[in-house]
Amino acid sequence: MVWDDGHAGPVSLRRLRDACPCAGCMGETVLLRSFSPPPKDTTAPGRYELKGAVPVGNYALQFRWADGHGEGIYTWGLLRGLCECPACMSVRSSPEEERR
Ligand SMILES: [Zn+2]
Ligand SMILES: [Zn+2]
Repeated sequence: MVWDDGHAGPVSLRRLRDACPCAGCMGETVLLRSFSPPPKDTTAPGRYELKGAVPVGNYALQFRWADGHGEGIYTWGLLRGLCECPACMSVRSSPEEERR
């Protein structure tokens, strides 16, 4: 995976899919009430099979999955937060470097 700023790092499809930010996966908070999604069916066929990625403006990517899912919009910030390279992992493990 290569990010927009040229940084490259590994992100597993499983990690990517489980981080899907759409309301159906992550739930949402409306007027201080939280809606929690049902437990994920991680055994659904095609769930971790990536069909394609579509750029959303210049700030995000939308992934399409083989199980038909594709609502999640992954901003670059979110994607970067999923990067599994040693540099990103070490930044995330030191609290004062944490940014959102
Ligand atoms: Zn989703
Ligand atoms: Zn990285």
